[in-house]
Amino acid sequence: MQVKPKKSLGQHFLTDTNIIRKIVDAVEPVPGGKVMEIGPGTGALTRLLMERYADLEVIEIDSRAVDYLRDVYPDLTIHEQDVLKTDWQGLATSPISVVGNLPYYITSPILFSVLDRRELFSSAVFMMQKEVAERLVAKPRTKDYGILSVQTQLWSKPEYLFSVSRHVFTPKPNVESAVVRLTFDHSTEPQENTRLDTQVDAGKIKMVVRTAFNQRRKTLSNALKSILVERFPDAETRADFAAAQGLSRRAEELTPLEFVDLTRAIYDLRVE
Ligand code: SAM
Repeated sequence: MQVKPKKSLGQHFLTDTNIIRKIVDAVEPVPGGKVMEIGPGTGALTRLLMERYADLEVIEIDSRAVDYLRDVYPDLTIHEQDVLKTDWQGLATSPISVVGNLPYYITSPILFSVLDRRELFSSAVFMMQKEVAERLVAKPRTKDYGILSVQTQLWSKPEYLFSVSRHVFTPKPNVESAVVRLTFDHSTEPQENTRLDTQVDAGKIKMVVRTAFNQRRKTLSNALKSILVERFPDAETRADFAAAQGLSRRAEELTPLEFVDLTRAIYDLRVE
């Protein structure tokens, strides 16, 4: 049975056995953990994954690919659904090691959904557009450094593993690709355990980071003006706060942990 690639579903099937092996080798489930694949398509990665992890589970939206996989791998657990509507909590009977050659049109939402539920995951090995991969690991004061970099580096340890040529896919995508591994080491998540108190803080950090980078050319006092005015209605207090926090800098100059400190400072100082 043939599955004709659908552009609308980001279907670019891997054809290179060496790359397939390198991706599967990068998956390192924790003892007792489970492996889940996003977007198995016609099973390029699935075959080798199943050889190593017999209880592999996959999430695929395309019913044609699902029919194909059911035919070829009758024992495979297939969740026929949109990965963005997946109830990760319900699937996480043990820490999930997630892997996938992602559908590129939804790379960022997939990344954010995993980061948001990071307590359920031990690692993620994802193939994505090279430029997105570069953003995940970008350092402050570089053009690639932004919202994705800060959130990914705060809540995981991202590693750029290797680049992948567009010639190893059918059909060829227009962009180059790369494989990244995010490791979630919950025991040493200092920013969560000691610097942040609750999930509410994580929401606030996200808001501050997004607001700061939405106007990345402005100084932080200007870019964050709406938040600062709400927290410090008095102009003089606001100016003092901005000076003390070094808000004449721009968003791209702050490290991820400095964003955490800034968020705490903004909200801790709030006069109720
Ligand atoms: N793993 C295969 C490979 O490497 O050859 C296919 C990878 S292809 C780049 C992306 C896969 O994700 C396709 O099988 C596509 O149908 C699936 N997909 C696209 N959107 C999806 C969604 N919202 N939820 C789940 N799977 C999706």
